[in-house]
Amino acid sequence: MKLGIVGLPNVGKSTLFNAITQAGAESANYPFCTIEPNIGVVAVPDERLKFLRDLHQSQKVIPAAIEFYDIAGLVRGASKGEGLGNKFLSHIREVAAILQVIRCFEDDNITHVDGNVNPLRDIETINLELIFSDLEMIERRIQKTEKLAKTDKSLFTELDLLKRLQAAFEEGLSARSLEYSEEEADLVKDFGLLSMKPIIYVANVAEDEVADDGQNNPHVQKLREFARTDHAEVVVICAKIEAEIAELEEEEKAMFLEELGLKQSGLDRLVKASYSLLGLISYLTAGPQEVRAWTIKKGSKAPQAAGKIHTDFEKGFIRAEVVAYDDLVSCGSNAAAKEKGLVRLEGKEYIVKDGDVILFRFNV
Ligand code: GDP
Repeated sequence: MKLGIVGLPNVGKSTLFNAITQAGAESANYPFCTIEPNIGVVAVPDERLKFLRDLHQSQKVIPAAIEFYDIAGLVRGASKGEGLGNKFLSHIREVAAILQVIRCFEDDNITHVDGNVNPLRDIETINLELIFSDLEMIERRIQKTEKLAKTDKSLFTELDLLKRLQAAFEEGLSARSLEYSEEEADLVKDFGLLSMKPIIYVANVAEDEVADDGQNNPHVQKLREFARTDHAEVVVICAKIEAEIAELEEEEKAMFLEELGLKQSGLDRLVKASYSLLGLISYLTAGPQEVRAWTIKKGSKAPQAAGKIHTDFEKGFIRAEVVAYDDLVSCGSNAAAKEKGLVRLEGKEYIVKDGDVILFRFNV
């Protein structure tokens, strides 16, 4: 599952993407990840791994990772266009979620393609391309469904929904911004709409504006208001600082962040927000050999989660020995947690939670 980074030219995309590849996770640990120049693999920051490593004196720590895909080349008219524009849209189709980088920093030395800094206009430029492409698709679908609905009344809900989407698109609203009933939400998933993809608006602010999360930047305020109506999140970063941080060693990094008055880097915040935007959580395994975070979809059951480690674990699943991370910390050790009855035996129907520390029992 990849996230795509998009944005107009000169907003700081490459700067952010460079920070991502610099900070890059060791790819040897992630055989599933694609290695291409425009894909960056980043470890998902997880404080829990450090505690578990110390507890087990583990040799190796393997955090979860996600992939970011640098999607350059949006041109106005992409939805109508051939070549570059089409390519841009097909790249967006491939990603599970979008990070849209928005320029919120003023700097007279860096030209803006449209003359001045204006986040809402920039967002509109990009979003409209996605919305136009969705509109075209929906219109074709309406024609088809109208014909079929003449003999099949069960299609009325779908037809109503399609028309509601059409009206929204004509007003320049994203599919994401609408409210859906449960039935509609299922239908809309199948439409594969670009403007339905979950999105984070990444506000790229000046160096001295990150410490207070862009509170005093009027562009960020406008962006936040818009994001609420668009059912989207805003993460404030300074791409330039992130690029500098990414080049530092761990210790230097901590010092640098403290000087800036920050608890964690913008990239760390962005990666965490991206992980949850994708609907992903981590469960943990821990032993003397390695401590590891495993990525699963929220709502996964124990056997599926076990399958992430090895397909045999899923096939031969017997049960899972589970302790919640917080319980483990408050007890101090696995043995103490067991004594207090906090290590649970869970079966096939158990829904794994974020931060569960698990030992799987399985037949081979
Ligand atoms: P892209 O075209 O969106 O990939 O933009 P770049 O990452 O190449 O950035 C365009 C210019 O803006 C470069 O000169 C960057 O150094 C500069 N830039 C990027 N982020 C920031 C920032 O947070 N503050 C300032 N002042 N300049 C930035």
